[in-house]
Amino acid sequence: MNDRQQVQQLLDFIDASPSPWHAVATMEQALQAAAFTRLSEKNSWQLEAGGRYFVVRDDSSIIAFVVGHKVLAENGYKIIGAHTDSPGLRIKPHALHKSGEILRMGVEVYGGPILATFTDRDLSFAGRVSYRDEAGEIKTQLVRFEQSLLRLPNLAIHMNRGVNEDGLKLNKQSELPLIYSMSSKEQFPDQVFTELLVTQCHIAAEQILSWEFNVYDTQKGAFWGAEDAFYTDSQLDNLASCHAGLTALLDEVVLNAGNTLVCAFFDHEEVGSESTKGADGSFLPDVLERIALAAALNTEDYKRALANSFMLSVDMAHAYQPNFPAAYETEHKVYVNKGPVIKLNANQRYSSESVSVAMFIGWCQAANIPYQKYAHRTDIPCGSTIGPMTSAKLGIRTVDVGNAMWAMHSIRESAGVQDHAYMIAVMQCFFKH
Ligand code: ZN
Repeated sequence: MNDRQQVQQLLDFIDASPSPWHAVATMEQALQAAAFTRLSEKNSWQLEAGGRYFVVRDDSSIIAFVVGHKVLAENGYKIIGAHTDSPGLRIKPHALHKSGEILRMGVEVYGGPILATFTDRDLSFAGRVSYRDEAGEIKTQLVRFEQSLLRLPNLAIHMNRGVNEDGLKLNKQSELPLIYSMSSKEQFPDQVFTELLVTQCHIAAEQILSWEFNVYDTQKGAFWGAEDAFYTDSQLDNLASCHAGLTALLDEVVLNAGNTLVCAFFDHEEVGSESTKGADGSFLPDVLERIALAAALNTEDYKRALANSFMLSVDMAHAYQPNFPAAYETEHKVYVNKGPVIKLNANQRYSSESVSVAMFIGWCQAANIPYQKYAHRTDIPCGSTIGPMTSAKLGIRTVDVGNAMWAMHSIRESAGVQDHAYMIAVMQCFFKH
């Protein structure tokens, strides 16, 4: 498969995944097609050497793993970590409300999106609905509204004369509600919303109990630039890394290399990771421990396995944008299509250190791909990833890496076509090593 075909698969993956719950369902399909078995954390696990498994926690975090033939205590776990969520807008519990003659959808800001990029886009919403079935059980169903139902129209420049000088500023409470429809006097907004759900989910109104919805952009991903060297879509941060990790894992040579391989993709990274299914929670430690228990390792051998493990914490990086040179550290510019970016921060906002960086460079060299090193400007606060918290919890040597991209946290982000293939190649090298 060439670089462009790999990116087309990524764009199809993102377009099938308008929310973190959908992203996990999309990955689940790919895993099942590759003969992975779904495990429940509620049941006891009988794992076989060479077996392929995955676990989902609360619909939006997933850990897929392969039990290797090699001795776990000595060989350790080879882990790729990333996140399934992206910053944006989430629908409020009482979704619709009247404003004069118009029905608007109330939204809450999730994480740190660039809010101005949500204006004038063909928006809709997708997520999950929890309901009581005929037998009285609580069930969950994924729901996606395909058509563009929502919009945040900009204010005309005639009422916002300074917009090009001051930038577009939106009050999060009063200026973000999305326009849904005209309203009539007889309508009750909650009822209108419930009817919308009933029509889409085919569940009776009285059975629907609760839901979570993400606002998404209905425009599909696309290639752009000379020779289609770049691509664009929503949620590249961080579904591009999830897709690269999963593609690397689902290679037959990788799967049969005899190593214990783990892909851990978490929800809630954009809001701090502190939740039952977040990277700062117990999900990864629980799964690693249960893999060890199923292989009858004692506590010392489990600790040895952790000490012999390595994690690639993969999240997107900031590509140099020449229109804004002052935003970048002049000696550490990184570019799209120039290879994976190794992220370094002395204050441990990234988990990379000398040895883990050296090991990653070794895999890049073995895969015959370029790499770049990034440091943030010293006078601007640096972002972080799931790397520091997972390595602190488990004591696993970790490197923070990711592909360079433009417009991180915009609803329409961009990256380089070659980089996606480079990342998959170095991940496969790491998994096979
Ligand atoms: Zn990210």
